[in-house]
Amino acid sequence: MELTFTPEEVAFQEQVRTWLAENVPRERRPGEGPQMRAFDLAWQHEQWQAGWAGIAWPKEYGGQGLSLVQQLIWHEEYARAQAPPVGACFVGLNHAGPTLIARATDAQKASHLQEILRGEVVWCQGFSEPDAGSDLASVRTRAVVDGSDLVVTGQKVWTSYGDVAEWQELLVRTDPAAPKHRGLTWLICDMRSPGIEVRPIKTMARLNEFTEVIYDEVHVPLTNVVGEVNDGWNVAMSTLSFERGTAFTSAQVELAQTVERLIDLATTSTGPAGRAAIQDDELSRRLAMTRAEVAALRAMTYLGVSRNKRTGTPGPDGSLIKLYFAELHQRVNRLAMDLIGEDGLYFRSLTEDDGWSGRFLRSFATTIAGGSSEIQRNIIGDRVLGLPR
Ligand SMILES: Cc1cc2nc3c(=O)[nH]c(=O)nc-3n(C[C@H](O)[C@H](O)[C@H](O)COP(=O)(O)OP(=O)(O)OC[C@H]3O[C@@H](n4cnc5c(N)ncnc54)[C@H](O)[C@@H]3O)c2cc1C
Repeated sequence: MELTFTPEEVAFQEQVRTWLAENVPRERRPGEGPQMRAFDLAWQHEQWQAGWAGIAWPKEYGGQGLSLVQQLIWHEEYARAQAPPVGACFVGLNHAGPTLIARATDAQKASHLQEILRGEVVWCQGFSEPDAGSDLASVRTRAVVDGSDLVVTGQKVWTSYGDVAEWQELLVRTDPAAPKHRGLTWLICDMRSPGIEVRPIKTMARLNEFTEVIYDEVHVPLTNVVGEVNDGWNVAMSTLSFERGTAFTSAQVELAQTVERLIDLATTSTGPAGRAAIQDDELSRRLAMTRAEVAALRAMTYLGVSRNKRTGTPGPDGSLIKLYFAELHQRVNRLAMDLIGEDGLYFRSLTEDDGWSGRFLRSFATTIAGGSSEIQRNIIGDRVLGLPR
């Protein structure tokens, strides 16, 4: 694989950098609720209007039809420009949209893909349940055919942005008699349907972005099934491969910048012996190690992009990047707290103050969201290395 960009890619990088420098919103992003939603959608809409939405999505669905390398350049420049997190647009752009491109009917694509890119709707993910997280195939939320509809009854949990979403990628059990990986169906569920109740869950980082969702005989048209009825496991695996393989590219690039900020901070803050923190052998060793690790992560990401370019869809090896990123992310945030010392305890309101303490608390989620580290290790052992179970 080639690790340097072609002259065309360098020119593209220049264009992206210039546009972002002039257009990234500088006002504070609201941390939750309708204001957060309005902010995230408005910023997505602005990117769409300027021709930057869906860099690698096909043109026929409103994307730019560019390469995965250009998509990577976009993510790198986006993080470099310190643009706001993709937030409420995350699921639509990073895994529901790509799943629809790969698996949906033309009518489903026509209904949903452009709306996502234009920043008109929020999507959420209804996969996890109280007894089906790592073991996703244990989903129990039931859907029964009734005329031209499926009628859904059950409960989902940890649904990020469920309170501000119009649409949900919803995994339900349609055949309880079938072996558990069969008998599942992937649905496009309208979150405004009668019978849906969304309840907020507050996290330890004091954010309300999580919800649980209760379904009481919710009617979903059969035309909203993606793939076939009872073939939802297959479709869900596509969704997870996007979620684990490519969805966190910006966050990975951002991590490299965080390490550079920490190195700057270590030159100005006081370390354990009353000297500049950077002069402390242990702290400087850890900073050097994390700088090397983010460089390794970047190389892994490039390798992943190069592989996806050949195969079209991310494979199980996305779990390697997900695992390495999640654990490194936690180490970097732990290092930040050790470096800052007691100032890290500064805690006003995490919805207003996105400081180091907020990042540290949120970093606990990275080894759980999108499948825990243990599950990624199982996948790597089983499906990448071919080890016996
Ligand atoms: C920030 C965040 C956002 C999320 N957003 C969403 C969302 O929008 N939609 C959604 O559907 N879900 C979402 N989730 C849920 C997430 O997918 C689950 O939390 C995750 O899959 C783990 O499931 P669980 O919480 O039920 O833990 P469990 O599956 O109960 O696991 C508990 C512990 O046991 C370990 N474990 C379980 N099985 C095995 C095994 N076979 N081998 C080794 N160890 C094992 C796990 O690694 C973990 O440490 C989100 C989670 C987080 C943290």
